[in-house]
Amino acid sequence: MKNQKTLKQAVSLSGIGLHSGKRVTLTLHPARANSGIRFVRTDLPGSVEIPANVRNVHSTTLATTLSSGDVKVSTVEHLMSALWALGIDNCLCAVDGEEVPILDGSAAPFAQLIQKAGIKTQRSSRRFLVAQKTIEIRSGDKWAILKPSREFKIKYTIDFPHPVIGKQVFEFNSQTNFFKEIAPCRTFGFLKDVERMQAMGLALGGSLQNAVVLDDHSALNPEGLRFENEFVRHKILDAIGDFSLIGYPILAEIELHRAGHELQTKLVHELLEQPGAFSIFVPESEEELENPFCLAQTASAFS
Ligand SMILES: [Zn+2]
Repeated sequence: MKNQKTLKQAVSLSGIGLHSGKRVTLTLHPARANSGIRFVRTDLPGSVEIPANVRNVHSTTLATTLSSGDVKVSTVEHLMSALWALGIDNCLCAVDGEEVPILDGSAAPFAQLIQKAGIKTQRSSRRFLVAQKTIEIRSGDKWAILKPSREFKIKYTIDFPHPVIGKQVFEFNSQTNFFKEIAPCRTFGFLKDVERMQAMGLALGGSLQNAVVLDDHSALNPEGLRFENEFVRHKILDAIGDFSLIGYPILAEIELHRAGHELQTKLVHELLEQPGAFSIFVPESEEELENPFCLAQTASAFS
């Protein structure tokens, strides 16, 4: 927990991009301590590296796209979520196209890939971002609130006027098993939106193989849902990916109500930009990390 982690060896997988429909190969490489998660496009000259940081978020329409100059990598959020869940601090993610492959629309294949590589503990300590203030963002009936807390928690509420979805609430905390309860949950979309997007040349790779697709009455996937509330669980998966773009593990309690990538990214910007909203905590021992009283003491020393 206290020390930074990377992969033991490079690992690859291939699949199609959700929006382009083109085949892409993703290779995850071990990386040195304090280098963070970075993306590189191997199909372009110059090997431009894009740090997976909220400052490099170019767009949040349909998926999270990172950019540096003209170089872009899209649909990073499910991979970012899996890297976060496995506690990977440093990794170079190489793609030979503009998107990370969508695979089955969940984070499970990325989590399995990281496990296949093996995890190596590095000598340097992790740095934690500790929230010091409550931050609230509202947009109509959507909202996102972040509060100081001794552990990372996300409570998500969605409310879709659809017979299969309706109102769903899920809380992710230190007791939640990411691999079993969150990683397998797939992205979802409505048939009418998918048809409209494909007519505009978007979501060309979208199919029942990589998303739960709903018509007005039911889910069209013959295998059905992986969980009755797979939808809100996938929203948590996406939110973890968005919050991982802070660049540090974060100690905060987050409540999201019908939020989505745009509101979540705004919340992260507010947290990083408001004076005194956070402190950085570098634990010197495992005990310091596990003992919330001790942690709170150290965190306040930074504020
Ligand atoms: Zn997603």
